[in-house]
Amino acid sequence: MTIPNNKIEPPRLGEPYLLTPGPLTTSYAVKQAMLRDWGSWDDDFRAMTREMRTRLLNLLGEGQSDFDCVPMQGSGSFAVEAMLGTFIPKDGKALVLANGAYGLRSAQTMKYLGRDHVLLDKGDYLPPRGAEVAQILADDPGITHVVAIHCETSSGILNPIEEISEATYAAGRKLLVDSMSAFGAVDLKPDEIRYEAMVSSANKCIEGVPGFGFIIARKSELDTAQGNAHSLSLDVHAQWAHMEKTGQWRFTPPTHVVAAFLEALHGHEAEGGVQGRGARYTRNRDVMVAGMRELGFETLLKDRWLSPIIVTFFCPADENFVFDQFYKLMKDKGFIIYPGKLTVVESFRIGCIGQMDEHVMRQVVTAARDTLAEMGVANATPPARALEERAILAV
Ligand SMILES: *Cc1c(COP(=O)(O)O)cnc(C)c1O
Repeated sequence: MTIPNNKIEPPRLGEPYLLTPGPLTTSYAVKQAMLRDWGSWDDDFRAMTREMRTRLLNLLGEGQSDFDCVPMQGSGSFAVEAMLGTFIPKDGKALVLANGAYGLRSAQTMKYLGRDHVLLDKGDYLPPRGAEVAQILADDPGITHVVAIHCETSSGILNPIEEISEATYAAGRKLLVDSMSAFGAVDLKPDEIRYEAMVSSANKCIEGVPGFGFIIARKSELDTAQGNAHSLSLDVHAQWAHMEKTGQWRFTPPTHVVAAFLEALHGHEAEGGVQGRGARYTRNRDVMVAGMRELGFETLLKDRWLSPIIVTFFCPADENFVFDQFYKLMKDKGFIIYPGKLTVVESFRIGCIGQMDEHVMRQVVTAARDTLAEMGVANATPPARALEERAILAV
C-alpha cells in the first residue's frame, strides 16, 4: 500500500526539524517503510530495485531512453568516486570545477585515483563560467572530461551548469555532474543540458534516508567503461552489468534504505515530481530569506545565484552573537541549522529541503528572532567586511 506523503506533517516524538542538506527531515511514511526485512535475492526486493531505477530515470523526462540508472552502496561521496573512477579512463584527464568543498572533494578523489586532472578553484563561492571553461579546454587539448557541481552545497550556489555543458561539448569533451543536492528538485534533463553521467543520493531532494547513491549515465558510456574502475566495489560498469543480468546488487544492498527510498519516490511523484518539489523548496527559501532579511540578516549570494536547496547567511556583527549559542537556542526551539563553510567571514546555513513547508519556515524565522532577543543581539546586520566580500560577486 502506498500512503500519499505529499502532506507535510511535523516530525514525531519531539524530533527537531533538520534544516540541513541531508540527512534531512523525512516523512513518517518513509520511516515506516523500514519496519520490515527483505531478502536481497528475493523477487520482491528485485522488483523494488527495478521500480526504483525506472522511477529515477523517469525524472529525466524526454531523452531518458539513452540513459540507465545504477545504484551504488555508500554515501554520496562513494557514488561520486564510483562515477569518476568508472567514466574517466586511466589515460583520461579531467578539468575539475570547484567553488566550494564538494568541487575540491572531487579533485581530491581524482588525486586518490591517481588520474590526471587540473583544478579551476574559484574559492568559496564564485561560479565557474562557461567562457573560463572554454578557455581552459582550448589551452589544453589533453583534457577529456569536465567535472562540475550542480548545486555547490557548501555555499548553496546553483552553478551555471548549462553554460558549462555548452562550453564542454563545443570543445568536444564530456561532462560529468555532481547533482547530489539538486537532483529531484532542479531539472537536469539531458535533452536540455548535455552530460554523460550524473550522480545523486538517497538522502537529499528525493527525501529518503542515507545509505546509497545512484549514478545515471548514458548507456553508451556504461557500455565502454569496462575495465576503467580503480576499485572492485565502486565499479559502476560491473554493478550495472550484474544488475542487468540478475536484477540484484553485487554486494549486500541497504534493503531498508531502498524500501524507504521507494516510498520517498512515491511521495515525490504525488507532490508533482521535480516541478512540485522544486516549487515547495523555492517557496521555503523565499519565505525564509525574506523573514531573515527583515531581521537584518544578509545572504552571501545575490538572489540570482541562490539555490532552493540551502542558503548561506553572514553571522551578525553584534558582539553578543555567538554561533554556538545561536545553534543551541535554535535547537531548543526545534530547529537544527548548519554551520557555514566560508573561509573568510563567519557564516551559517539554513536548508530548505526535507519535509517542511512555508509555515515551518515562518516558525524558523520566529525562532531566529526570539533567539536574537535572548542573546541580546539588537540587529543581525553583518560586519562591513562581509558585505565587501559579497561585493566581489557583482554579477
Ligand atoms: C551531500 C553532497 C555530496 C556527498 O556527500 P556525502 O556526505 O558523501 O553523502 C557530494 N556532493 C554534493 C554537492 C553534496 O551536496
